[in-house]
Amino acid sequence: MTSRSLLLVACLCASTFSNAQKKGKKAPQVQPPLAVADTVKPKKPATPPGITDKVKSSRKNEGLFTIFQDTATGSVQLYVRKEQLGKEYIYQSFSINGPNALFLNQSMHRSNFVFTIKKSFDRLELSRVNTNFYYDSTNAVSKSKDADKPEAIVLSEKVAAEDSSGYLIAADGLFLSEKMDPVKPAAQPSFFSMPSFNLGSLNPMKSRYAAVRSFPNNTDVVVDLAYDNPMAFVSGGPDITDARYVRVRMQHSLMEMPQNDFTPRSDDPRVGYFTQTVNDQTSIKATPYKDMINRWYLKKKDPTAAVSEPVEPIVFWIENTTPKEYRQVIMEAGLKWNAAFEKAGFKNAVEMKIMPDTATWDPADIRYNVIRWVASASPSYGAIGPSFVNPRTGQILGADITVEWASGSGTPNIAELLTAEKPKAAFENHIKAIPESHTANCAIAGELQAQMVSASTALEAMDASPAEIGDMHQQFLTYLIMHEMGHTLGLNHNMKASQMWSPKEINNKELTRKYGLIGSVMDYPAVNVSADRKKQGDYYTTLAGPYDEWAIQYGYASFAAGNEEEGLKKILSRSTDPKLVFGNDGDDMRSPGKAIDPRVNVNDLSSDAMAYAEERFKLVNNLMPKLVAKYSKPGQSYQELRVRYNALQNQRFNMIAAISRYVGGVYVDRSFPDQQSKNKPFTPVSLAQQKRAISLLNKYVFAPSAFAADAPVFAYLQLQRRGFNQPATGEDFKVTGIMLNQQLNGALAHIFHPLTLQRMTNTRMYGNQYSVAAMMQDVTAGIFAADLKGNVNVYRQNLQTAYVQGLKGIVEDRMSYDDIAKAAAFHTLRKIKNQLATAVSTNEETKAHRASLMFQIDKALEIK
Ligand SMILES: [Zn+2]
Repeated sequence: MTSRSLLLVACLCASTFSNAQKKGKKAPQVQPPLAVADTVKPKKPATPPGITDKVKSSRKNEGLFTIFQDTATGSVQLYVRKEQLGKEYIYQSFSINGPNALFLNQSMHRSNFVFTIKKSFDRLELSRVNTNFYYDSTNAVSKSKDADKPEAIVLSEKVAAEDSSGYLIAADGLFLSEKMDPVKPAAQPSFFSMPSFNLGSLNPMKSRYAAVRSFPNNTDVVVDLAYDNPMAFVSGGPDITDARYVRVRMQHSLMEMPQNDFTPRSDDPRVGYFTQTVNDQTSIKATPYKDMINRWYLKKKDPTAAVSEPVEPIVFWIENTTPKEYRQVIMEAGLKWNAAFEKAGFKNAVEMKIMPDTATWDPADIRYNVIRWVASASPSYGAIGPSFVNPRTGQILGADITVEWASGSGTPNIAELLTAEKPKAAFENHIKAIPESHTANCAIAGELQAQMVSASTALEAMDASPAEIGDMHQQFLTYLIMHEMGHTLGLNHNMKASQMWSPKEINNKELTRKYGLIGSVMDYPAVNVSADRKKQGDYYTTLAGPYDEWAIQYGYASFAAGNEEEGLKKILSRSTDPKLVFGNDGDDMRSPGKAIDPRVNVNDLSSDAMAYAEERFKLVNNLMPKLVAKYSKPGQSYQELRVRYNALQNQRFNMIAAISRYVGGVYVDRSFPDQQSKNKPFTPVSLAQQKRAISLLNKYVFAPSAFAADAPVFAYLQLQRRGFNQPATGEDFKVTGIMLNQQLNGALAHIFHPLTLQRMTNTRMYGNQYSVAAMMQDVTAGIFAADLKGNVNVYRQNLQTAYVQGLKGIVEDRMSYDDIAKAAAFHTLRKIKNQLATAVSTNEETKAHRASLMFQIDKALEIK
């Protein structure tokens, strides 16, 4: 899907060659350059060698495309039948084994496009087809459908031999190359960027074929592409044996365009599917979209039955790499999707099978959908659920799920969750927060493992039994597998689904076992741990929620001919039901400054995320003093303690993010006018809620005692020495860096982001009652008031300095902040100066701190 959007970036460079090359037929009759021997002694050309001659030392792989592989050299030739010329086929590439750092891990789904093969003079040309547009053929402008869409010729190869039914071409240049998939990422030269791990150049001499499989509907060619990089400056991770020599295993799959009565289903903004983006170039609508959702081809065995088994179910194989103790849970998790399909009219739509150890089929064979486990050296995800599709229709043709051992089993073996380095001080450094984009891949790994480790830490610190922790893990695994399967069914994320229950309802198992803990398994919620063990409900959701059932209904319900539009409209009319709320990655507020609706977020929970967050702060503060005793284990170092401490800090960070997004927030309603929602499309968050957010941050994040509970832990936060691995910055834990990271990157980066401040001012015109100046007054009180009459502790000194520097940055900024924000910052600095002038400092440290603040404010206020 990302590669499709790249296609849209059409090159506008005028080319004098383009007309001559258009479609080949207009090209002048230029003879191809003659070989030297021919020019010396012109003679009647010899009869070209027959195909039999050319393939006599080859093994024949017959199937969709017949491939001849030389048994001595391994070299491959492709036989294209005449009736295949001009037809559309689907290409999909997969990485099977390669550096994780370059996302070439096992079963990453990569290039996906439609291609055709055409004959041009004595050559065969393989070209990509642009599937981004639709033209109504009854409209005359459709005759121009090829205009301004330059062809993409992937390969042009001279016909080596032909017979009455087809042509033979050499195909090493196609398969032992990057022509169809740019395996090596394009270098992004930047003067400032650090050198990163890099494959170097493809060496065809060291590349080879690993397998050729041809079936009636698909041909798979597995290749080992060898890369040499004699000047490897960066050695890569421990998975890289020698950075100078890396061989990447890739699979090229050529597939027949499905011949069936699958009908594309249109996309809708109120429900979250992955899509194929198509523009209707002959439409006069404001939204000329003919986007299609990605979905499997499910057809009822009995079309007249309300609920019927499908002709072909969606079959998943649990690969034999899956730990035996988890197989049953995974099996049951997958089958739980069937409840959602029943609401869409299908019984037993999903089948789960276990791959026996004696199986002779290869899980990389695209005809099998597998759930597999890996234990990578440096996992780049926790779990992913990619699928591949027919770009013409959105029909899902296959899918795989990969679970990383560390995430799936929730081990407390996790990289540092929070940077210990002092974050950049001025707010404007956060302007460039990059929104994460999601395709069918799911980065749930890190987030989920962090949640799981936090939860097990909390439970252990509260003396939960191993059986209780085991139950939690089982719920976690069920949720994880259901989430990834949801992706393979076409669903994208729903980061609003965790809003379904109130903080009181969330621990009511009667509700959560019936409807789910959250509205959809497609969210990344905070793990539900109750501070009161007696009230503990479900930790994770373990069934398809109301949104999931509804979304599956939208994507898979079948309708009698002519009734689809009305039927879908009826399903969509329910989008205003609070249990069906939806917001995907484009809407979520995970990064500072990104998106606008605070209810669409990761790592939050309940319809009152602020109340939930306050409970979580209290829980973390209660658990901190217990950590040292709990994780001072005989026979092991303090490294686990450090991981557990970071996990709890991470919980704080998530809660800070959840709360801060209410400041300047706007609730979004995507329903259409005919649904008569009570809400307008945009409703600013109320004054009371915004002030509540600031007061929670003041209390739990900015206050002089905010991190008091952590004090007993600091002196124990030691990593285990391994060789000479002590960090260059020293092995002591960077306590103040962690605090400032919470305060600055967690809270202030968002509420002082230029987009947030701009929005606060813009929304004043339609309901927002909280001005930027008033908000700054409230934050200033939280950051300065408590210790004005006395000395300032270390992390308050850092916070106050960073805050003044941030305000100074706004006053001096010439690019991003509007004048209203600048005025408010100017005014705030003046007030801080007045307050500091009367502050009481008795120790030298506080005197130095305040003198420095006064100096910086004076400098800022001089700016005209
Ligand atoms: Zn996901």
